[in-house]
Amino acid sequence: MGDWTGIMRPWIIALLLPLATVRSGEIADAIAAAPRAAPVAPAADLEAARALFEKNLDAIRRHDRDAYLACYLNADTLARTGPEGPQLGYDSLAKETGEDWPDLFEGLDLQLVPIRPGLVYGTYRYRVRYGAREDSGISERFFVKIGDGRTDRAKTGAGATGGGRTADGETGGGWKIAVTTAFSALPGTPPPPRALVGATLVDGTGAPPIPDSAVILRGGKIDCAGTRAQCPPPKGIDVLDMKGTWITPGIVDAHVHFSQTGWADGRPDSIDVRDRYPYEEVQAGLRAHPERFLRSYLCSGVTAVFDVGGYSWTWDLRARAEADPLAPHVAAAGPLLSTLDFWLNLPAERQFIYLGTEEDARGGVRYLASHGSDAVKVWFIPVAERNFDDMTKAVLAAGEEARARKIPLIVHATGLKEATAALRAGANLLVHSVWDVPVDQEFLRLAKENRTIYCPTLTVVDGYRRLREAATEKKPPSVDDPNGCVDPDTLARVAETARLTVKADDPKADEQRRERFAAMNKMMPVNLKTVRDAGITIAMGTDAGNPLTLHGVSVYAEMEAMQTAGMTPMEVLVASTRSGAMAMRRLEEFGTVEKGKRADLLVVGADPTRDIRGLRQLRYVVKGGVVRAQTELRAAAPSSSGSK
Ligand SMILES: [Zn+2]
Repeated sequence: MGDWTGIMRPWIIALLLPLATVRSGEIADAIAAAPRAAPVAPAADLEAARALFEKNLDAIRRHDRDAYLACYLNADTLARTGPEGPQLGYDSLAKETGEDWPDLFEGLDLQLVPIRPGLVYGTYRYRVRYGAREDSGISERFFVKIGDGRTDRAKTGAGATGGGRTADGETGGGWKIAVTTAFSALPGTPPPPRALVGATLVDGTGAPPIPDSAVILRGGKIDCAGTRAQCPPPKGIDVLDMKGTWITPGIVDAHVHFSQTGWADGRPDSIDVRDRYPYEEVQAGLRAHPERFLRSYLCSGVTAVFDVGGYSWTWDLRARAEADPLAPHVAAAGPLLSTLDFWLNLPAERQFIYLGTEEDARGGVRYLASHGSDAVKVWFIPVAERNFDDMTKAVLAAGEEARARKIPLIVHATGLKEATAALRAGANLLVHSVWDVPVDQEFLRLAKENRTIYCPTLTVVDGYRRLREAATEKKPPSVDDPNGCVDPDTLARVAETARLTVKADDPKADEQRRERFAAMNKMMPVNLKTVRDAGITIAMGTDAGNPLTLHGVSVYAEMEAMQTAGMTPMEVLVASTRSGAMAMRRLEEFGTVEKGKRADLLVVGADPTRDIRGLRQLRYVVKGGVVRAQTELRAAAPSSSGSK
């Protein structure tokens, strides 16, 4: 236990002093006798205390009231301390026990300190879940050896309420818990260290996988990642056997919109549903309750997302998500500068700032910069009524102003002409494929010169097509959610598609639309392959929030489309982790499984370097060093959390 005992011992005595006023056989004795330098208690004491400790925690895990109560000193002096102070007496414990077992209980980092013969102090770090609510903290125990039944009424038969049972024999020969405490950890407290051993490590750098690896998590970060010989698990650390699995970095989705729902209500320009879902109310709901999408991301293995355009509240979401252990890291671009004066705004707030002149561009960037935006996002829509060169001038001005303020420039440009202009403006991130014609040498040269990251966003267009088809055919669209992450409200909306009425287009317009979708779906993979062959950095992004591109779960289809387009599974994996972190400009912090990075990683049951579909087989999602089984995150989604 090393340093730990040295740090804790003075503190233990401080903790005990107030209790000295309580006349309580064993405890008062213990304090009176608390030595300055504790003699080493017999190993048998530690062993007995550990056995009782484990029995105690196991009883919580199994919701076994009798076994739980049998661990405690049946006396009026039994002390239970929490943030509100101590509470005395076994009877009150017996009364409360069994009312509120956690749905999940995790006890790690068991530590024991011998104080003197017959008295052992212990702590463990807990993480509990009640429905969707998670709490973690530290809990202490004082283990005392009961001599001749002197203090335990259960042994003497004096008014026991715990069924008169004794833990003798079962708990290591007359040992009981005399003091117990639990305190929630302050936000940001790192979880206890852990070691994940035996998995094949795919670290996200593109380096060859490491079989039979070890990854040591400490302080919420990666302390070591490599072979078992390079990273031997330190003594006493909790070890998880991950044999037969693969470890990858957490997925980064570099293109999402929290101001959109994943259905038509967030994009009434697709199918207008404002008669039943007024846009103002939809937006108020998104702002008040973004957590269902944050949960869906984590549940799907996505540990960081880049919101590349929305209402200004998305800036505040960054801190909110950072403080929420069940949320991915969020970067946010805030309102977009748009060459199209788009109508989809709120009465008192715009998500589309009109980019008319160069002055508009400079004013817009000043506004974004003054709010600490993570990027300047330009929606470069070639408007037929506007002069293309005028629009380009405004975009160039936005790029210049962003550069001067060291803010990355993100551009939505889907035609080669405007995408090339965007590169001239210094675009750091293109969040869509060029989908009208093949990219040319000039495009590739500019992208390379700029070190532009290309985010192909292949599948979002198909969501619009599927929405319209489902509404026309009166059939609910399918939901690709292999891990049960989508919240019930979203699922209900998606199902409602079958009951929508779409204005029937004339057959010719319908035919044209189909042809346009088909042409785009043909061109995008071709251009992705060209961009990849040219060595341009590619990041995965879904455009989640758009109709039927659901937050979180859409990453699988997007990654698989990238693989189908000709990227190797390893290239897709790097694009979906490391390059996404680069796009967010947070590669120093996360995106690979390397020493010093945040411990955000996935444990999957199939080899993602053979087929990127392997990432669907999520076993564990590790965020900030907390290892959660995927099934646990499913339960955390409001869909299956019951009433809590
Ligand atoms: Zn987008």
